[in-house]
Amino acid sequence: MGYYARARNLHKGAKQLVAIIDETGDYPQTLEGWEAISGVGPSTAGAIMAMGLHQYGVICDGNVKRVLTRWAAIDGDITKSATTKKLWALAIRLTPKNNSGLFAQAMMDMGATLCVRRSPSCSLCPLKDDCIAHAEGRETDYPVKAKKLPKPSKFSNALIMENTQGEILWLQRPDNGIWGGLWSLPLAFIEKVTASELAKPVEVQPQKHEVRSDEKVYEAEFTTAEQIINEWLIENELVAQSVSNTLLDDAPIKHSLTHFHWYLQPQKLIIEDGKIAELSAKLVAANIIFKWLDHKKAHDSLGLPRAMIKIIEA
Ligand code: SF4
Repeated sequence: MGYYARARNLHKGAKQLVAIIDETGDYPQTLEGWEAISGVGPSTAGAIMAMGLHQYGVICDGNVKRVLTRWAAIDGDITKSATTKKLWALAIRLTPKNNSGLFAQAMMDMGATLCVRRSPSCSLCPLKDDCIAHAEGRETDYPVKAKKLPKPSKFSNALIMENTQGEILWLQRPDNGIWGGLWSLPLAFIEKVTASELAKPVEVQPQKHEVRSDEKVYEAEFTTAEQIINEWLIENELVAQSVSNTLLDDAPIKHSLTHFHWYLQPQKLIIEDGKIAELSAKLVAANIIFKWLDHKKAHDSLGLPRAMIKIIEA
């Protein structure tokens, strides 16, 4: 989701800034004002205050966190909010009230040039005399990050619904969520059923875990359009054919999100003209934005996510 969401936030943030400048004649002048801009987090807002506006501002980005966890030997998991709070408190305590921009720049440069991830240049570092990690020879033990669990996998069929002219149905995805605003084939989200699972009926204990945002997005991604299409396929007893013989486990298109791998299995379905008109009417009635376009036109004229390009190029 990262890059598309970032681009959307950048655009939204730029528009917000233009509106603020139109209204006030200037950029926001407070930390809160910057934090209200889409895509600007507390550290970016602090950096703008300190370095852009030469006011008081605190930064605590990845580079600064690495320096601080080593210097103070903070051994909490850096991905946990308790550790983040501790690091912010330390950054606030260390940041001078005057010239906080110089301090912020120095901390960022330290993290980027000396206190680097793999082999920090401690002998050149101005903090070496009171850095705990250096004194203990444990520089690269920090920052502490809990080992990542392997990502779970989720599975979907990507329906290549083709009319007799070789045009394919494309849906514009809702603005929020995976591939927001881009165009996609209709997807049928399905439960993972693997050959090995079918063979041995293992009792699976559901694991207690935090539901992460992209998991929620996955659940919500079964859009209205896809519900209409999937119900219509069932009503019409139309069964899509898998375009390859692979099991879903080995589905040819793999799309990795932050917290799960998403496997897409293309499935082809030729639909006769009368049925196309019926389905299109249903989609129009539900205000769904869709197009019937052949591969080339879709490729050339629609904003397609990488996974969809892989499907049409396969
Ligand atoms: S002494 Fe080494 S580990 Fe400590 S802050 Fe400097 S570069 Fe980082």
